[in-house]
Amino acid sequence: MADEDTPDALPCCMCARRLDNLGDGWNQPSRGTAFSTAGHYGSAFDPMSGGTLEINICDECLAKLASVGGVAHYDPPEFRARTMTIWAGPLPANTKG
Ligand SMILES: [Zn+2]
Repeated sequence: MADEDTPDALPCCMCARRLDNLGDGWNQPSRGTAFSTAGHYGSAFDPMSGGTLEINICDECLAKLASVGGVAHYDPPEFRARTMTIWAGPLPANTKG
């Protein structure tokens, strides 16, 4: 649980659940994952500024999204074939909140 001097991490972008911040700095969510992007060509959110956007998804929402084929998984960089597969999600024990 965050102390008085540590702000909460960003809320889950799917369910708006409040996420505790595990770090001393900004946005190290507990029971969630942070995702950042520099924007994307074809989106209204293509900042073209060199900055990044960051959102959090709680573990439960990420597992739900994975269960409907909504999460891609890429091999680590050392396997440079950069193959993408649809991620089936974490083991059920990892999704209990
Ligand atoms: Zn959520």
